[in-house]
Amino acid sequence: MKVIFLDLDKTLIGEDYSPEPAKPIIEKLKKLEFKIIFNSSKTRAEQEYYREALNIKEPFIVENGSAVYIPKDYFPFNFKFTREDADYYIIELGERYPVIKETLDKISEDFGLKYYGNSSIEEVMKFTNLPRKLARLAMIREYSETIFKWEKEGFERALERNGLKVVKGSRFYNVTGKTDKGKATKIVLSLYSKIGEVESYAVGDGLNDVPMLDAVDFAFIVGDLKHPNAKNIRSIKEILEVME
Ligand code: MG
Repeated sequence: MKVIFLDLDKTLIGEDYSPEPAKPIIEKLKKLEFKIIFNSSKTRAEQEYYREALNIKEPFIVENGSAVYIPKDYFPFNFKFTREDADYYIIELGERYPVIKETLDKISEDFGLKYYGNSSIEEVMKFTNLPRKLARLAMIREYSETIFKWEKEGFERALERNGLKVVKGSRFYNVTGKTDKGKATKIVLSLYSKIGEVESYAVGDGLNDVPMLDAVDFAFIVGDLKHPNAKNIRSIKEILEVME
């Protein structure tokens, strides 16, 4: 069984945030019988938008490894989870959003920080270039924050002193609990390995993708970031050529 973990921002999804250019890539991966796992700093609500547009049914990893969402009835066996709702079993690995926002609110004035929790939807649209509909979905945060802007350096250390983790993504800084995309990747792989032998792949572009790239058999980087075991490609389309 082949399982591929895909970063979204600047990997599967381009500057205009449209799912359209990803359609032929996803179609091809499905034809090659890949299980397609989104592994992104995006929220559950944002990822559900892309899952719907691209007709993806597999589990997905939200907010930089903070939680794994597993559709109910997806795996034919029982496993441990943190909580469930009507649609998913949820394995939580990070910190809940109120804790993260409270920590940021305490230091935001000192460092001149702007993030989702202290921005209006208009400001979010300006910082991210997200269209209004997607900006609204990005603001439904459960486990992480994104720092769009800062006036003074040193905020990373201040947040780390408070038990949080700060990682540079492809656009901004991400703040989470003590988790990463790799931890969540390993959990998903261990679930798949209960139903058969797994060959694992991942594609990313940013420093926050490194733990995910470390966790798989075959890693690809869109762009120039260097990683000892990953192959650099110019666009995600190139992985299809490699896999033919
Ligand atoms: Mg990215």
